[in-house]
Amino acid sequence: MSENKSTYCPVCKGPRFGAFCFRCGGPTIPATLECPHCKEQVSVISNFCSECGKPIQEQVKNFMAKELQRKPVQQVPGPEGAR
Ligand SMILES: [Zn+2]
Ligand SMILES: [Zn+2]
Repeated sequence: MSENKSTYCPVCKGPRFGAFCFRCGGPTIPATLECPHCKEQVSVISNFCSECGKPIQEQVKNFMAKELQRKPVQQVPGPEGAR
C-alpha cells in the first residue's frame, strides 16, 4: 500500500525511498533484512546484528544480490503476486 518504505541503494550506499534510487536511477532494495540467527529485522548496512551480535555480512551480501536480481531494471509489465 504505502510506497514510503525505506530502501537502500547498493550503488550509492545510502538510504532511499521508493523502488528506484533518485541519484543513480538504479533499483533499490529493502533497507532491512531478517537476521538469520534471531529473526530480528536489521539494517542492510549493518555488519552485525544489533539484537544477537552475530555477523551478518554474508547474509547482507546474499540478500542484496537476490533482491537486485529480482528487481526489474526496466519497467516491464509482468505478472505480480504469488506472494
Ligand atoms: Zn543510487
Ligand atoms: Zn540477530
